[in-house]
Amino acid sequence: MNTRQFASLAEKLAFQIGQQGPISLAAYMHACLADPQFGYYTTRPGIGEKADFITSPEVSQMFGELICGWCAAAWQQLGRPAPFCLAELGPGTGTLMADLLRAASRAEGFIEAAQLVLVEMSPSLRERQETVLQPWKTRLDGIAWAGHVSALPQMPLIAIANEFLDALPFRQYVKSESGWREIGIGTGGNGELVRLSLPSLTDPAILPEGADREPVGAIFEHAPAREAAIGEIATHLLDHRGAALLIDYGHGVSGFGDTFQAMRGHTHTDPFAEPGLHDLTSHVDFGRLVATAKSAGLLQPALATQADFLLELGLLERAGTLGHGKDTATQESLHRQVERLAGPDQMGNLFKVLRLTSPPLDLPGHGHGA
Ligand code: SAH
Repeated sequence: MNTRQFASLAEKLAFQIGQQGPISLAAYMHACLADPQFGYYTTRPGIGEKADFITSPEVSQMFGELICGWCAAAWQQLGRPAPFCLAELGPGTGTLMADLLRAASRAEGFIEAAQLVLVEMSPSLRERQETVLQPWKTRLDGIAWAGHVSALPQMPLIAIANEFLDALPFRQYVKSESGWREIGIGTGGNGELVRLSLPSLTDPAILPEGADREPVGAIFEHAPAREAAIGEIATHLLDHRGAALLIDYGHGVSGFGDTFQAMRGHTHTDPFAEPGLHDLTSHVDFGRLVATAKSAGLLQPALATQADFLLELGLLERAGTLGHGKDTATQESLHRQVERLAGPDQMGNLFKVLRLTSPPLDLPGHGHGA
């Protein structure tokens, strides 16, 4: 056991790299987010208007309400299983689940049948979630926390996740004169963390179509942890039936480019400076995740933009109902929320909604026959 004390994560990583050699970007990201002493989510998760970054449930209660409509429809079509596992992966402040449960009062029997499981690694966020969800504790068929998707109870599942996948570690590869090499983190002359190419050549099997035609310097990103999470969910759905909705920013077709980003105080910062002090993410390669779900045996994984998904679920109608008879300030605020969630140059197009179900279900929000 290493009992050495460090003043910062940068110092700790530099020491470990000095002992064991360079680490992958995935190991770096994992340490930055999950290190027990210095990790961003373990020590200072900052979700919300006044913190580091804002997410759809924090923008508007309508987000959780519409997702509730989707979950309730899935539950009905699955034959109203009781009990079933209602899971949220990476619930943050608990706002999305609270909005969902409030709206679920209208789907008779849904809350009582639900064993709520929150997949959350952050002890401080677990506490916040427990407080926010307290009002539903007695009506639910149970509420529990899990550290990993693989720990969900063996029963029908309805799972949701917003901005969970982007927080799972990913790897980066760069095209060099001699082929594709993984990017790692090492230390420079003064012990500072530096990016470098790891020596071994990359297994061509992980590279997408067209990798050989990319110019020197091109970047490819691959996130085995995200594929593993989708694989776990797919297996659960095939074994126990259910539906899952995974929402995040990313692309529908695999491509090349550096999307590693750090956020602090709503500003993009350098992901390699001050590790542990900001949120780190990258865009989700949904093309790859659809392929993962298909190869796991799911018949109809479907992808929609957040705009199409929310509009088909009734975003405008819901805003109209909430604004009916209210003052101008409230109506303008609702209008801004709609724009933020579904505007094409805001979250509407960049964010995608991946739907996984088994058996195939006919659910709103994914067009016809998607
Ligand atoms: N869904 C929320 C929060 C998104 S932030 C929202 O939309 O506001 C990412 C969330 O995922 C946080 O709750 C974070 O603690 C959690 N998280 C990140 N990596 C995780 C992991 N490997 N296992 C479990 N939870 C994780």
